Amino acid sequence: MTHPSPAIQSRLPQTETSIFTVMSALASEFGAINLGQGFPDFDMDKQLAALAAKAISSGYNQYVPMAGWMPLRESIAQKVNLLYGNMVSPADEITITPGGSYAIYTAFTTILQPGDEVILFEPAYDSYIPNILVNGAVPVKLKLEFPDYAINWEEVRAAITPKTRAIIINSPNNPTGSILSDADMLTLQSILSGTQIFLISDEVYEHLTFDGLKHNSVLKYPELFARSFVCFSFGKVYNCTGWKLGYCVAPAKLMGEFRKIHQFDAFCCFTPTQIALAEHLKQAEAYLSLASFMQKKRDLFLGNMKDSRFSFLPSSGSYFVCATYEQISSMPAKELAIELTKSIGVATIPVSAFYQNGHDDKVLRFCFAKKDETLETAAERLCKL
Ligand code: PMP
Ligand code: GLN
Repeated sequence: MTHPSPAIQSRLPQTETSIFTVMSALASEFGAINLGQGFPDFDMDKQLAALAAKAISSGYNQYVPMAGWMPLRESIAQKVNLLYGNMVSPADEITITPGGSYAIYTAFTTILQPGDEVILFEPAYDSYIPNILVNGAVPVKLKLEFPDYAINWEEVRAAITPKTRAIIINSPNNPTGSILSDADMLTLQSILSGTQIFLISDEVYEHLTFDGLKHNSVLKYPELFARSFVCFSFGKVYNCTGWKLGYCVAPAKLMGEFRKIHQFDAFCCFTPTQIALAEHLKQAEAYLSLASFMQKKRDLFLGNMKDSRFSFLPSSGSYFVCATYEQISSMPAKELAIELTKSIGVATIPVSAFYQNGHDDKVLRFCFAKKDETLETAAERLCKL
């Protein structure tokens, strides 16, 4: 006999299964090359993998302190100082989290009250709006300007109300590959100056900027940092997205509140990877070489696609490049992404999935964090369209 379960009044009634899950499931069902969900199809950093294995066999298998393994926090603080000239406190201003998304979610949960407004930019990484809604807050959506995907700062100024509690930015940007310039950061700083608005900065692609462009971390701007939760992911740095380990950097007062949420949620994160990263992070070359490694992949893919009928938009960072396809099809992006997975065996992500109302500029996102042969075979198929 089956017993009825109580009905749930959904916290997220409009939210569907993530596009990453949908497209990866379809790719595996049809045996397609997966340029959709953003993850490398090549091995992670071998030295780091060996250090993690050693940590397990050496007995580092119990809880670390709630905020994370202190030597790892110290290594992060050194890296932050080296790259951004900001000496943050490992004791009070860094917390290790189970991935970058968790850091972002915890930051939202730390600061939001029901009815608060959060300004975000669409196309937006798909976790932001559900994170805001589940906290009873209101997403205020502004559009990045197609096709450059730049922020219109006048619109930001105009969108601020007494209820604005936070702004979330993401540079290098997923899905568009655009990045924020120093001028953007200074404009944001002046807009927020004197307000009570928090900034959440999703910087999981910090090491992935191309063509000599620099990443303008919030950590470089002390006045901005004073109101910020800056979120990172190790998965993107060492090609181990499945490790789901990241961290948040915030001023001590903000971090104190962040930890109140974190300590009764994750409490602490997987120990062996933290032991390994504490050591490995000291080698700056490993993360500093990532941009040129990934830029070569971007250029290989774009080179092999030069005779295709896709029109590629610039990608200055992240491991994604977007393209329009008006010479190929008039289908909506989601339909086309599904169709191409089935018909030519190449999965992509429709950028329309990053707009809450499905706004469609008919753009597909391609992940180029793949083996060269994967990119070559995918391009061969795509060029036939
Ligand atoms: N933010 C952005 C923009 C991302 O692309 C991702 C993706 N992986 C994340 C956050 C989440 O990172 P993590 O897997 O460490 O949770
Ligand atoms: N960040 C990855 C992407 O944009 C996916 C992460 C996930 O599947 N949640 O493709």
